[in-house]
Amino acid sequence: MGKRKAGYYTKKKKFVDNRFTNKISASEEPRVSHNLCSASEKKFAANQEEIASAVANESVIKAAEEEVSLTNSRDISVSCDGTWLTRGHSSLQGVCTVIGAKSGKVLHTQVLSVSCKGCDRWKNKTDTVAYSEWWESHECECTINHKGSSGNMEVEGMKQILNRSLATHNVQYVNYIGDGDTKSYKAVSESQPYRSGVTI
Ligand SMILES: [Zn+2]
Repeated sequence: MGKRKAGYYTKKKKFVDNRFTNKISASEEPRVSHNLCSASEKKFAANQEEIASAVANESVIKAAEEEVSLTNSRDISVSCDGTWLTRGHSSLQGVCTVIGAKSGKVLHTQVLSVSCKGCDRWKNKTDTVAYSEWWESHECECTINHKGSSGNMEVEGMKQILNRSLATHNVQYVNYIGDGDTKSYKAVSESQPYRSGVTI
């Protein structure tokens, strides 16, 4: 069996106007270049990322307000799911997504990663002075933000999202529509991200 190409495409959905719509074809799948060489290319990529992030933030804030308006409440129902860069339970990256039940728009995403190319390069030299110096500048840009197993990424991602819903949108995701994974739901519910008395 051939190795699958990189890209978040488990659901094979197309993401347009902050909404998952049609099935996506293989030729439309997003590509991420891992061969950026020059400083100018890296700077360009960083600027692109910053712009994309700003647009995405604005987009999810608008989507959350639309959801609030449609439901006339700041306690809202959401559909939640996780997807992984590769199939199986050994993926190095995963993404959790929360979608408003009424609007169908994305309100929150959380990327989780257990790997970092920079850290991989230094993994056998962590007891050197050079490593300590490198780590000082790398720490703020390290892509590792998940230490557990890949299988636990969805639960951890959802907990992080729920913990930020009030700060980001001033809403509570009180009804959690998942994919039937009762273990994930139970773990997220038991984390009690909201004030006493608010159950998910
Ligand atoms: Zn790192």
